Amino acid sequence: MNSEANARRIAMVESCFGTSGQPLNEQGRVLVGEGVLTKMCRKKPKPRQFFLFNDILVYGNIVLNKKKYNKQHLIPLEEVQLSSLEDDGQFRNGWLIKTPTKSFAVYAATATEKSEWMAHINKCVSDLLRKSGKKAAENHAAVWVPDSDTNICMHCKKSQFTLINRRHHCRKCGKVVCGPCSSKKVILQHQSSKPLRVCLSCHDEISSAQTQPNDSSGNLSNNLKKPAHDNGGDDDDDDDDDDEEEEEGLKDRTNDSSGDDDSDEDTDDPSIQTHPSATEYLPTPFDVP
Ligand SMILES: [Zn+2]
Ligand SMILES: [Zn+2]
Repeated sequence: MNSEANARRIAMVESCFGTSGQPLNEQGRVLVGEGVLTKMCRKKPKPRQFFLFNDILVYGNIVLNKKKYNKQHLIPLEEVQLSSLEDDGQFRNGWLIKTPTKSFAVYAATATEKSEWMAHINKCVSDLLRKSGKKAAENHAAVWVPDSDTNICMHCKKSQFTLINRRHHCRKCGKVVCGPCSSKKVILQHQSSKPLRVCLSCHDEISSAQTQPNDSSGNLSNNLKKPAHDNGGDDDDDDDDDDEEEEEGLKDRTNDSSGDDDSDEDTDDPSIQTHPSATEYLPTPFDVP
């Protein structure tokens, strides 16, 4: 392993995120691969730059291809679990990245890229778990159903979504539900220490698990403190957290590319066809221009 080259690559990633990112250079950290994946976001699929390190997965919005990224997200690999997705119409070569706090689908440009990514991530995860002796995380956050999948509440099946009647996501099952059908909150330990919005079905399920005598699972039983009803001051205009950021990211990109004089071939349409080839994801040597 050429550690100097590795340090240089990590410094490069760091500088591409600039002040919007965290320091990435840590003892023993290796950049294993990188590339563009299409991430299923709340409103639609969007291209995101991913960096696979041996201990974390980092991704961000593409402001300027291979030069500038922002909205950095950092996921400890130790708690990651992947599951492959069947091809479905335009959604091909996808898999789920599941973590205790957030789970989402990503899509690669080709089947080969998909298997490269999955194999490398899985190897990093199992290496980490073997070293630490920890067990794989068992509780993963639900994957959110995309907004566009439904115009009506998936719980009451009546309430129609409009500009005013907004969509909410149940943090337990990921369904899109209306306000009244998601007026309760519970503590989902692995996701947050704060009570989170859940749909009425999930609330009932958690409540009945709690009242089971001799419930030895322990998992759900003490999570249900008092389910806080929505008491006006809705602290979490929650559902937007990720995506409003992402929208901003896209705006940034537009602004940036307007004043850009060179190499903006990808900035107008960072489509998945422009992916670097799968071989670039392979460990060393990297094919960094
Ligand atoms: Zn409803
Ligand atoms: Zn639910």
